Amino acid sequence: MALFLHPFLKYKIMKALVYYGPRDVRISEMPDAKIEEPTDVLVKITTTNICGSDLHMYEGRTDMEKGRIFGHENLGVVVEIGKAVSQIKKGDMVCMPFNIGCGHCKNCEAGLTGFCLTMNPDPKMAGAAYGFAGMGPYSGGQAEYLRVPYGDFNCLKLPDDAIEKETDYVMLSDIFPTGYHATELAGVKPGDSVVIYGAGPVGLMAAHSAAIKGASKIMVVDNHPDRLKLAEEMGAIAIDFSKTSAVDQVLELTKGNGADRGCECVGYQCCDKHGAEHSNATMNELVQAVKATGSIGVVGVFVKKDPKSKEELQKKGHMDFDFGTFWMKGQRMATGQANVKAYNRQLCELISSGKANPSRIISHELALDEAPEAYKHFDARDKGWTKVILKPGKAAKKADKKHQKEHSSAD
Ligand SMILES: [Zn+2]
Ligand SMILES: [Zn+2]
Repeated sequence: MALFLHPFLKYKIMKALVYYGPRDVRISEMPDAKIEEPTDVLVKITTTNICGSDLHMYEGRTDMEKGRIFGHENLGVVVEIGKAVSQIKKGDMVCMPFNIGCGHCKNCEAGLTGFCLTMNPDPKMAGAAYGFAGMGPYSGGQAEYLRVPYGDFNCLKLPDDAIEKETDYVMLSDIFPTGYHATELAGVKPGDSVVIYGAGPVGLMAAHSAAIKGASKIMVVDNHPDRLKLAEEMGAIAIDFSKTSAVDQVLELTKGNGADRGCECVGYQCCDKHGAEHSNATMNELVQAVKATGSIGVVGVFVKKDPKSKEELQKKGHMDFDFGTFWMKGQRMATGQANVKAYNRQLCELISSGKANPSRIISHELALDEAPEAYKHFDARDKGWTKVILKPGKAAKKADKKHQKEHSSAD
């Protein structure tokens, strides 16, 4: 005898962090992620991070659709594979790049997976990502389960120490490769001096990467003392622009010449020392703070349009950029999101061998249920809220707040 099920009950239910509107995210019950294509892999998420770029959507500064699940920095255990998946197996611990690549388009073949030509249904946009405005319809991983398209291509199988170093490996999804990408775009070589704008998670990872590459002097510009302290712990010189001009401080530290390389790790919501947003603030300072013939890597997010900005140019995604000085100084610049797959396997080896430990910037390790509260604090740039990681398998009250205590007492 056939058992009658209400259509709704055909779906299993999972918990996920869902966007309801500006500054309104909630834990809701959503249909379980599932295998949709034979090339898919289904991952039970064990760690997923909140990212600075989630805040652009959280604040309502993008056209993120209501009802979408956030989360593009994901790690977990494979629980099911599609029929065409051959390399990834059930039970593998995997970390997914935030960009979703097809693996067979012109850009993916060249290692430029951040600009995949087939995964974004918008023909004007190259590049796709999980839970991200304008980057395709893919659900995010701030949830119990995640569907990973082209699983063989998009899952990085982690080494045997995956559980022990899980909080390091989860940084391979975005911020560690993105910080590294900033140094690649800027062309950082051994012995170079580097100025990094932004001591958020990506700026800190750029500092970590510059140190790994053998930079002689790393200067990190920010105005949050707790973040600058972390930069110092990574071997960088803290440049607090709330006190005196960051450019003057960098020039002073580089015999008046400026740094060999510059990294932009803030993006279009950068602010002056009074906290007012000016989308050109970091870019024009970098032109001043980097030497003649130096090069600048820009990984901070800039957008095509930003109608809610108070600046007329920025509404159209334009800026008042000091191109004359940039040209006169013979500088070079490279931009864009990280092609995570170009780096994640090598950076994984650095973690495994103990030469990189990106988890040191984590301030909070929380249960998924605590995510809405965490968004509030992270969005307010509350002191000590540097990097939040979420554990969907954890009960809220048992959340590990060890790091939280350490950091809130740090300054
Ligand atoms: Zn991210
Ligand atoms: Zn592709």
